[in-house]
Amino acid sequence: MEISENIKRYQDELGENITLVAISKTKPTSDLLEAYQAGQRVFGENKIQEMAEKWENLPRDIQWHMVGHVQRNKVKYMAPFVSLIHAVDSLKLLKEIDKEAKKNERTISCLLQIKIAEEESKFGLDADEAREILASEEFQELKNIKVIGLMGMATFSDDEAKVRGEFDYLKSVYDDLKKKQPQFEVLSMGMSGDYKIAVTCGSNMVRIGSAIFGERNYN
Ligand SMILES: *Cc1c(COP(=O)(O)O)cnc(C)c1O
Repeated sequence: MEISENIKRYQDELGENITLVAISKTKPTSDLLEAYQAGQRVFGENKIQEMAEKWENLPRDIQWHMVGHVQRNKVKYMAPFVSLIHAVDSLKLLKEIDKEAKKNERTISCLLQIKIAEEESKFGLDADEAREILASEEFQELKNIKVIGLMGMATFSDDEAKVRGEFDYLKSVYDDLKKKQPQFEVLSMGMSGDYKIAVTCGSNMVRIGSAIFGERNYN
């Protein structure tokens, strides 16, 4: 199927209350432009340099989301334009984002990544670590970032009950933290293979790549 048809289909299916982040990593700008022309404005990438190159070459009203693991020394390259950073997993990283946001006279929105999968390879905080960061004085002094919610990746598995259990857990952590964080508004969970489960568990932001743009050759 065509990229533009896929975009329209997902936008219709998800409706107004669930944000579709089109994950365009590894794909050429011509593919992104096709999605853009079908009405898509939110794109997600997992490498800062690749995102910055695409930002330079594509329309300015695109909102760029960084969904990959972030190295502190690269934050400066996206600070001028990034609209949401999904996978923040330390106070140190939040401080760096705050510093670079300030230089650019911006406030940058972030999500904390919570580790919900068993796989060792997946990054993220546990719920208590996230709670501690949010409660710390150091965090509260950071004026140029806004933590607006949580992100998580479920185990890559056909076992639907397992995936559902992980998403249910993340939703419960989100609801719990939100009691003290009224600015929370985003729960980013669900990818091509598991977004339907994520949505029934309360996701309001899904990150869909291969189901829109086709399989990737690498990454
Ligand atoms: C690549 C990626 C996605 C999209 O994966 P698909 O299975 O292609 O939909 C979503 N989230 C993150 C963090 C990713 O790195």
